[in-house]
Amino acid sequence: MATRRQFIGTLPAAGAAFSLAGHALLEGGVARAQPAPLAGHFHPKGKAPSVHTIAALEAARAELPFSDTRDFDEQARGLIAPMPDMRIMSDAGHVAWDMEQFQFLETADDFDSIHPSLTRIAKLNNNYGLYEVIPGIYQVRGFDLSDMTIVRGATGWIVFDPLTTAETARAAWGLFQEHVGEGLPVTAVIYSHTHGDHWGGVLGIISREDARSGRVEVIAPVDFERFAVSENVFAGNAMNRRLFYQYGLLLPVAPHGFVSQGLGHRVPAGSTGLITPTRFVSDPIEEFEVDGVRMIFQNTPNTEAPREMNTYIPDLKALWMAENVTATLHNIYTLRGAQVRDPLNWSKYIADALYRFGQEAEVMFASHHWPRWGNERIQGVLRAQRDLYANMNNQVLHHANQGVTINQIHNVYEVPESLRRKWECRGYHGSPEHNARGVVQRFLGFWDCNPATLIPLSPEDSAPLYVEMMGGSERIIERGQELYDSGDYLLAVEIVNKLVQAEPDNTQAKDLLADIFEQLGYQQENPGLRNSFLAGAYELRSGIPAGETADSSSPDVIRAMSTGLFLDFLGIRMDSRKAGDLRFTMNLVTPDNGERFVVELENATLTSIEGFQADEPDLTLTIDRADLEETMTGARTLEAQLADGTATAEGDVSVLAKLAATMVDFDPRFQIMPGTRGPAEAVPHSNPYEAVPGRVGVE
Ligand SMILES: [Zn+2]
Repeated sequence: MATRRQFIGTLPAAGAAFSLAGHALLEGGVARAQPAPLAGHFHPKGKAPSVHTIAALEAARAELPFSDTRDFDEQARGLIAPMPDMRIMSDAGHVAWDMEQFQFLETADDFDSIHPSLTRIAKLNNNYGLYEVIPGIYQVRGFDLSDMTIVRGATGWIVFDPLTTAETARAAWGLFQEHVGEGLPVTAVIYSHTHGDHWGGVLGIISREDARSGRVEVIAPVDFERFAVSENVFAGNAMNRRLFYQYGLLLPVAPHGFVSQGLGHRVPAGSTGLITPTRFVSDPIEEFEVDGVRMIFQNTPNTEAPREMNTYIPDLKALWMAENVTATLHNIYTLRGAQVRDPLNWSKYIADALYRFGQEAEVMFASHHWPRWGNERIQGVLRAQRDLYANMNNQVLHHANQGVTINQIHNVYEVPESLRRKWECRGYHGSPEHNARGVVQRFLGFWDCNPATLIPLSPEDSAPLYVEMMGGSERIIERGQELYDSGDYLLAVEIVNKLVQAEPDNTQAKDLLADIFEQLGYQQENPGLRNSFLAGAYELRSGIPAGETADSSSPDVIRAMSTGLFLDFLGIRMDSRKAGDLRFTMNLVTPDNGERFVVELENATLTSIEGFQADEPDLTLTIDRADLEETMTGARTLEAQLADGTATAEGDVSVLAKLAATMVDFDPRFQIMPGTRGPAEAVPHSNPYEAVPGRVGVE
């Protein structure tokens, strides 16, 4: 495992590893000189917000309902104890969580390089500590991207959503025990949904033995395991790369860089693990007692996550809305990449909760942000969120049915004025723009129906003609600079991006495009949009970082992959061009779980089907699933397991080596912006049958 790529896990230091060689500011200017770098900016080429950006932020400020300060009151209510130490160290020795770096947010009311609404949510996320929701329900907030919620049971504590990493969960549990816990144990853990920030920290509060022995019940929505992993396997490496944009992983925390992620400050850098649930909620509505507390579970499949559930505690009139209702417009489409969510279905489950529980609930709390108290307030938020998702679905399709395309909808669709003036409907996670495009994608796909865009040339192939027709690079830079100077940033992008596509080594063009992206980034309310523009600027200025990269998928996550999913993923890792005429049929048998597969390579394509065996296979491989996991996690090679008899092969064993030779290791440093690739580096090929899914999806 030592040779596996170390990248994502080492991000806080990655900025320092950048080489600026070759980017020296020596090029003779053909147009005017670039605006001067900004003192105090984290990047030597960083610029101050322009007068146009400052004006745009001021205009936004004037439209926003800043007189409504209820969120600040609710966020602060019930504080028992603040976070004792702003840093949480990881077991591996690095900083897993650092609230210290967000203290700059307290130094001013506003920042000219941050949208005022984003400043607002960032300040709200800057609170951290142990809070009482109501007597018997507590939350630890600001220790992680998500919140830990703890409910008093008859004999101990019931934990909803044990954070993302063991280290942050352990710290949160420690603070809770210090002030409220009375030394009583965890008696149940409830995973509200399949995203990793809601279960990855479970080993920080209970052990595997606690669950195995039945001492702690682990409850999850039906099909939890299948969806906890599957969303992030097939396109995992591409999703990892895209996190650098949506989550701004390379950006320093600073007024000109990363500010907050909206749902919380960021994802902690600790260790993740997964304990298999011991009880599943299968029916649409199920009621049972958890450690003596009566709970009504509402399954909400295909909403914020593929599997998710809300919970109502009738004796406390307390409504847990999981991540279905937080203090923001959530993602319909997530920029890191995932299948587009179903906003109408989501809206209907909120409406169901409103009528089923919301008529009497007196407190509502969730896995991000802060609680809402009082029935009127609860109904207000539920109704606004119900309408927000329904409106987005219905009105985007209303326009689409009149010919508005995926390439126009973000400039046409508007959230209704009454919802825009409710803070819980602001785009701190989803933006109206990228969500609107997502709805079109869900129903109609990528094509706008203009044949000109049906099978277009690749951008790098069409760009040279544009550059030629526009009169060459000097003319484009001159005009691009004029558009930059007049604040027409989206127009400037149109032409300067073409030049960068055509001339990836044109540093002046890349620097100008970076300057344009930077202003667009400063103007965004939505963290995903801001981070994406600023990340693009960063990579254009400095290139993609070289050096070791990290595989952050934990063995637990790989173990949660079904064998069928693993075989499918091998088909994705296989380079067809290397397979050539190779052809074989293999039977795979895993006796300990009774599964059987036929795996065939034919037509340069690897396929598998569960439940069948071929009559005359070239090879029959027999290995317990438990041992196969050793290979999947990289702990032991298949070769070694064959050598010592852990696995047995009957037939032509050379098939395995031939298949192994077609496997490719994916590298998350692939180029996005032209001319940003670092020096090529050979990536050592460790274990061809190792499964390397993407980082567990959070949100
Ligand atoms: Zn979440």
